[in-house]
Amino acid sequence: MRDQALEVLISEDEIRERVAALAERISSDYAQANDLLLVGVLRGAFIFLADLARLLTVPHKIDFISLSSYERGDRPTGAVRLLLDLRSEIEGRDILIVEDIVDTGHTLEYLKQSLSARRPASLKTCALTQKPARHEVPVEIDYLGFEIPDVWVVGYGLDFEDRFRTLPHIAVIDPTSG
Ligand code: 5GP
Repeated sequence: MRDQALEVLISEDEIRERVAALAERISSDYAQANDLLLVGVLRGAFIFLADLARLLTVPHKIDFISLSSYERGDRPTGAVRLLLDLRSEIEGRDILIVEDIVDTGHTLEYLKQSLSARRPASLKTCALTQKPARHEVPVEIDYLGFEIPDVWVVGYGLDFEDRFRTLPHIAVIDPTSG
């Protein structure tokens, strides 16, 4: 499948504008924070995080975590596994989770539970996209880029079988077509 054949869902300009607006809100909300840590969820959030972080006007640090959904056959079971933990201690710090996409909501729920057990001063979430139609658990996102329909999206960090991550826009792919 060629990159050009994919249908654009969110253009590069729309992403740029939205990321700038999110960065402005986050900078204003954290204006008084003195120890903000952005936690990027690998691998899909790396491009979003890089753009967002560079637009923040408040001091911050960056760390990464990596999770994977347990699958049975090719279906997610809802259980989540930690693949790579943070390098930083987060107790007493202001933590902002930066996610690429919230689908069923299990990954974000797992992350919030496991990070809040480490007693940060505050814990908020920022997601570039979410699919409300697919949520299986209640999902609360403090800073959201876009709501999208129940389709598989690629680009701007998001992949299909590790391809398409570097597309500048977000596109829809039909995983069943070759
Ligand atoms: P959850 O179902 O736990 O909310 O999301 C699990 C993970 O599934 C997301 O972090 C993301 O890696 C992946 N995912 C869900 N929907 C999509 C999609 O449309 N495109 C891509 N590339 N990944 C997705």
